[in-house]
Formats: sequence, C-alpha cells, structure tokens
Amino acid sequence: MSPSPFDHWITNDEEVASLLAQEWTRQTTTLQLIASENFASPAVMAATGSVLTNKYAEGYPGRRYYGGNQVVDEVEDLARRRLTSLFGADHGNVQPHSGANANVAVYQALLDPGDTILAMRLDQGGHLTHGSPASMTSKAWHFVSYGVTARNDDPEHPGEMIDFDNVRELALEHRPKLIVAGATAYSRQIHPAPFREIADEVGALLMFDSAHVAGLIAGGSHPSPVPYADVVTFTTHKTLRGPRGGAILCREEYAKKIDSAVFPGQQGGPLEHAIAAKAVAFKEASLTSFPAYTAQIVKNAVAFGSALAKEGFRMVSGGTENHMLLVDLREFDAELTGKEAQEVLDRAGITTNRNTIPDDPRSPFVTSGLRLGTAAETTAGLKEAEFEVVASLMAQALRRRSDEAAIGNVRDEVAELCRDFNPYASFTK
Ligand SMILES: *Cc1c(COP(=O)(O)O)cnc(C)c1O
Repeated sequence: MSPSPFDHWITNDEEVASLLAQEWTRQTTTLQLIASENFASPAVMAATGSVLTNKYAEGYPGRRYYGGNQVVDEVEDLARRRLTSLFGADHGNVQPHSGANANVAVYQALLDPGDTILAMRLDQGGHLTHGSPASMTSKAWHFVSYGVTARNDDPEHPGEMIDFDNVRELALEHRPKLIVAGATAYSRQIHPAPFREIADEVGALLMFDSAHVAGLIAGGSHPSPVPYADVVTFTTHKTLRGPRGGAILCREEYAKKIDSAVFPGQQGGPLEHAIAAKAVAFKEASLTSFPAYTAQIVKNAVAFGSALAKEGFRMVSGGTENHMLLVDLREFDAELTGKEAQEVLDRAGITTNRNTIPDDPRSPFVTSGLRLGTAAETTAGLKEAEFEVVASLMAQALRRRSDEAAIGNVRDEVAELCRDFNPYASFTK
C-alpha cells in the first residue's frame, strides 16, 4: 500500500494513519463515479489541513466577536472577493458549512416560518432540503412540489424534464413566497429564465440551488443563474472541486439578511480552514484551464451515456447535458435493483450510488436507478474512450453478477485503469 502524500503529519496515531492510507488506496485503485464527488487539489487539501482550524472567528471580517482575526479577516475577504468575481455576483457568503446549511439559511433569511416554497420533489430529482418529509425544512416551511414530464421514448421529444407548465400552475395556485430551482438527480441543463418569468408572474423570490453544477457554471459549460436569481446557493465540493462546504451569492439588497441568517442565525464559528480552501478552489476555477475541464466533464458524460445505452441501459430523459447520468436499470435487467447494482459494482471496484428514478416503483432504499457522475474521474484524466471502457466493465460486472471470478476480473481491469489515471498525478502534470 503506497502512503498518501497528505497524511505525513499523522505519525503518532497509527489507527487513524492506517485508515487514511486505506482510504487513499480505495480512492486511487477504484473508480469514483458518485456524481457529487470530486478530487480536490493538493492546494485545497493543504489549506483544509492548515493552522486556520485553530481559530475562532464568529462574525464577519471587520466585525468579529474574538481577537486575533487580522489574518483570518484577510482570508475570508479574499475568499469572498474571488467568489463574487468568479460568478459576477453582488455579494457572497462563504461561511455555510455545507450546501444544506446554505439552503436553510436562505429560507431563514427570506421567509417566515410556515411560508410557502415551491421546489422540486425528492423522488423527481430534488434535494432533501427542498422540502422532503424527512428534512426539518418541511416542518418549518410549507412546501409545494413540482416534478418532471412523463417518460417519452421518442428521441426527438425526450420526457422526464422539468415540467414548466406544472411549475407555473402550482405557482399560480399556491402563490409561493419563494421558488427553488435546482436538483440533485437530474441530468439536463436547468434554464434559469423560465423560472424567473414564473417567479415574476406570481411575485415570488427565486433561489437557484446550483449545488451540483456550480463548477459547470464557473467553467461556462452551463448558463449562469446569477443574473436571474435573487439568491444562488451551492456546494464547493462537487463539480467546483473545492473543499467540503457551501456558499451563497445574492443581490445586494439581501446581503445583510443572508449574512445574519448564516451567523448568528444558524451557525457558530466559521470553518476558516475550509474558507481558505474555498478561496483556493475559486482561484482554480478562474484559471483558463477550468473551462476545458468542465467541457470535458460534459463530453465524458455524453460518451458514457451513449456507451451505456449500447449495453442496454436506459438513460432517464434519454441522455445528459451535465456531469450526471441517471440510469434506469429495468431495461437492462428487470430483476436488478439499484441497491444490488451498487453492491455488485462496489465489489468490482466501481463506486456509484443507487437513486430513485421518476415514478420509481421501488422504495428509496432499494430503487430502480443508479446515479453516475463524471466529474471526479475527469479530474483523474479519463476521456471519452476510457468512459466507454468503464461502461463495458459495468455491464460485464452486472450481467455476470453471480460469478465472483467475473467480478474479480472487472476489478483487476479497473485497478489497471486507475494505475494509468491517478488523480494526484494529474495535478502535477
Ligand atoms: C448536494 C446538494 C445539497 C447539499 O449539500 P451538502 O453539502 O451535502 O449539505 C443541496 N442541494 C442540492 C441540489 C444538492 O445536490
């Protein structure tokens, strides 16, 4: 087992050091196809593991409740400046600990408890914080949910896309105070303009949750919601390839409310080490190499989807326009559940997650779908040809899932591919 280049400080805790080494091996000898994951750069990881973890800094730059924040103020100011310039926004808040925290802070800033929010239903592609009964958001606010259009196998008119007639009807009927655009399991571009039109028609505010696609937006592969939305939230660790965390962009008129909803409204001391790492990621996303990276993510997803379709898998909505594929497994094998596919692929060294598909007859714990993403392995350097190989390896493992030797062969081929495409070699190339 080769030691990772990042855990050299952990010399006095053998148990943790050993676990980190095992995880390093897992990440670099198996394929990471989880759509919400990526490989953060060594510079992002160095900032995350820095002395800034020691500092308390409740408040905002220039207005802290603790002393000793001269340097931290510069760190957070730099992160905010880089963020607003990257997305061309009026105001940015880099303190949310996660995407979920960012969303809840926005609801808290702009709404009163019990107000109506129109958002995408979880089983149609929305996120837990878009009003799932399992989330506290559904207890504090009143959610009405839109979905996607019906399945249509005509490639000229693919279905399973956001149903804007449904969004408008529900908006007119329920008069939400806030409309939420954005999804967690949806492989098409989400156009902000039609959401803005509907929001204006009913006098609602518009929040765009770009958790998944923030990197694609920064790289110019997807339209920016910033000119259309009152508030944009996102995570920094998905396609944006930064540290685990969240961020908020908003129009100047909401800046004060958003800031006080994050702190003291929701969180205590900010994670300044994560904020420094966010600053690093925002700079990386502004480099001229980043648009090429995000364009490759999308090209890889398109090629991956076509190759999977040739193997007999059905892509929900017929394809992809982002980094993600939502695979309906029933066409490939009516018996194969998302749960079993995820487990078989894990044994074959291919890391994925099961996911419900629109109108899934199976429970969210079992599911009929698999969600795949290309962002992480694109960082490692895989291109279209390699993703075609991955599609074929996935099909082999799933077809011969009761044959451990066949799964072992796939695992060996995956390990060989990973030897040629180590993510942490790609950063130094
Ligand atoms: C991932 C995601 C979130 C939440 O992000 P966490 O950092 O996991 O809290 C919120 N909204 C959407 C659409 C997401 O995909």
